[in-house]
Amino acid sequence: MTSKETAKICLITTGGTISSIYDEETQALHPGLSVDTLLDRLPKGMGNIEVIKRELFQLDSANAQPHHWQTLAGAIKQVSEEIPDLQGIVISHGTDTMAYSAAAVSFMIQDFGRPIVFTGSQIPASVPWSDGPRNLLDAIRVAAFGDIGETCIVFNGEIHRATRTKKVRVNSYDAFDSVDPSPIGILARDIVLYEGRKKRDHSLIPRFDTRIDDRVFLLKVFPGLPSQTLARIVDMGFHGIVIEGYGSGNIPTIENALTRGIQQAIDQKCFVVVSSQCAFGQADLSIYAVGRAAMDVGAMSAHDMTSEAALVKLAWVLGHTKEPARVREMMSTSFVGEMSFTSQNLPSDK
Ligand code: ASP
Repeated sequence: MTSKETAKICLITTGGTISSIYDEETQALHPGLSVDTLLDRLPKGMGNIEVIKRELFQLDSANAQPHHWQTLAGAIKQVSEEIPDLQGIVISHGTDTMAYSAAAVSFMIQDFGRPIVFTGSQIPASVPWSDGPRNLLDAIRVAAFGDIGETCIVFNGEIHRATRTKKVRVNSYDAFDSVDPSPIGILARDIVLYEGRKKRDHSLIPRFDTRIDDRVFLLKVFPGLPSQTLARIVDMGFHGIVIEGYGSGNIPTIENALTRGIQQAIDQKCFVVVSSQCAFGQADLSIYAVGRAAMDVGAMSAHDMTSEAALVKLAWVLGHTKEPARVREMMSTSFVGEMSFTSQNLPSDK
């Protein structure tokens, strides 16, 4: 693209705080701002950027469900087919479940070759000191000009890989952190991008595949968690469980032991993955006896995937296969940078 050409980007709005208004009656925030009102809050005349608008949902992202991820991926597919010279996509979204939706879009749309940028805000765009206009403008800038070919979250001047992001702050403008690898870029006078990211490549042929199995469960271990919980989850018809263990993926093995429940779940064709409750570091089930016990009965390790990415990935993998060896292989392969380990260089708890 030359500097004189117009960069076309598509803004898909889905709700969230950025689109919220204060309801005097209920005294609570709920989404309601139109895409035009959002764009009206941006400085006039964004140079040579043309924004194509799509209003998809008006949802608080706490209400987002896996089928919304599929609809969103479908909307991206549709607009990218309608407008082949699109430079990138921006999705405005609530922060509460942005990490899940962005991870889902990462798995469902691969080789897009252009940035798919999620953003939102901590304060509604209708409030004068909102972070919404700045985040939206940054996201539009990255979608139009960033040399990025992957799904990311742009927030508070940082560009995070979608599958490595966690919402870590409720009140600060700095809502998100990249977990372990640092952000893939920052926004300053220039868009500063780091090595390791996927670069823009318009020659790629995007692969859209929204198949998922939404019968996956995320269970946080806590002292006192009844050992029968896993059996109840299997009885409810779940096909996969991510257990958020302590530290390096440890679980109770004496009182309220989870080992038997894991084994029984696996025997009943429910796949079990163990992640860590810690934001930084990784599940390594080989370190402690209380981790090895989970591994010995057949649990897989999430390695350094966030629990959010592990849950979404398990849903995506189970949407494609339920063949145990294949599930294990796919869970230990990094598809969209969701973990630093690949099946070739897994640590010892393979
Ligand atoms: N509850 C809001 C949402 O996720 C929070 C936000 O957007 O910051 O939709």
